[in-house]
Order: sequence, then C-alpha cells, then structure tokens
Amino acid sequence: MPDFSPANKGHTKDRGFSPWDTMPETIIQTSPLLAEDAAFTATVGAGDPFVHVIRKGEVVRIVDLEGNQAVDTLFYNADNYADRYSAQDTIRHQKNIYLTTGSELISTERHHLLTIVADTCGRHDTLGGACSAESNMVRYAIDKRPMHACRQAFIKGALQWSEQTGRQLDKRDLTANINFFMNVPVTTDGSLTFADGVSGAGKYVELRAEMDVLVVISNCPQLNNPCNAYNPTPVSILIWNAELRIH
Ligand SMILES: [Zn+2]
Repeated sequence: MPDFSPANKGHTKDRGFSPWDTMPETIIQTSPLLAEDAAFTATVGAGDPFVHVIRKGEVVRIVDLEGNQAVDTLFYNADNYADRYSAQDTIRHQKNIYLTTGSELISTERHHLLTIVADTCGRHDTLGGACSAESNMVRYAIDKRPMHACRQAFIKGALQWSEQTGRQLDKRDLTANINFFMNVPVTTDGSLTFADGVSGAGKYVELRAEMDVLVVISNCPQLNNPCNAYNPTPVSILIWNAELRIH
C-alpha cells in the first residue's frame, strides 16, 4: 500500500478536475485456467509475507478474496537477486504507469521477468511504494509506529527465505514494489492521489513467468487507510504448471 500523504486527494478536487478524467479505459481480461488444475495454492493472511519461486512458463494468479486489498509485491531474477523488478524500466518500456493485461515487467538488468496475461481488476499501481512503521507514524500518529507494516512483512519474508535456502535476501533488496489491486491515479499536473479501489471480492491478476523468478509479497496489514476500508483481508495464490498454460 502506498507510502505518501492522502492529503493530495483534496488538492486535486480543489483544482476542479478528477483524476478519473485522465484515466485510460481499464481492460478486463479473464483467464481460461481452472482453479482445480492449479499445481499450487496458498492463502496469505492480512499482514503476512509470501515468498516463492515461479519457474519459466508457470502462471501465477493473485486473488483479492474480499476486495480492495493491497498486495505489495517484489519480483527477482531467481538466479540473481540483484537483478529485480524495476518500476522505472517497466513504465518506460510500456509508456504507461498502470499495470494491466499485456504489461511486461522489466528488471533492472532489462530482463523480461513476467507478463500480465489476465486481469479482472484492470489497474495496478507502480508508484506508491510500501507502507512502513515510519510512514505510519508520519502519516497518521506517533503511536502508530509499532503497528505492523508492509516493510516489516517484506523483511520477515526475506529473512525466512534466507534461512530456508541459505541465499542472501535482506533489507537492502527491498526496492520499489508493485501494489496489485491498488488504485493510485496521477492527475494532469502530476500529483499522486488515493482513489476509491477498483478491485472487488474475487478479482484477480494473473502473470506468466518469462524466466525463473522469485516473488516476495507483503499482503498489506494497513489499518489506518480508507482504501481498504480499514480492514486488511486475505488473498489467495494459485500457480499452474508450464505445460497447462494456454495463454
Ligand atoms: Zn502496506
């Protein structure tokens, strides 16, 4: 979930236009894949991390089970964690700041990590970043500092992964993330705004791995933000084997 002040929402309203005026049409693309054919399924509770390798050709689906949940996500080249999802390279490559069907996720070393092959939400954020204890304190109140945040979930997931695999993944590897299901429109003057969610219960985004990738998710635990109705909820993850994919 984004890490900036929601005060901008009023700012754009005062200037007499809505961020929706400048937004492209969303593309809704359903998937032909069936849940019962998935080789792997997991439910990720609100505030929990999820770390997993997705092999080349496999398809991963993230399902917003109850609606308007933010799924903060990082991707890495599974063979080299220094080569990871780059928001800047992805935005430049597709000449658009929103992710949806057809978006190709590009790494810092210009590798094509994954492609979004289905999306029933229609828009995902590349710019807002992740919430942290520090940003909660600045944005909301000093006594919010001990509250759990995405930054902590990322660190927990990274350290658990390092412990399990012996491969180094830590705080220094936590760079700009995607916020799946999060709606952060940019106005004509370049302001970032919070807007009502465009997701809903059961909506999903599906990505095909173009190479072996490591996915690191923080299922946002934010309790201070109206974007998720102050109610973080679980998501589910499904993965289909390469031979089953029909995209
Ligand atoms: Zn968050």
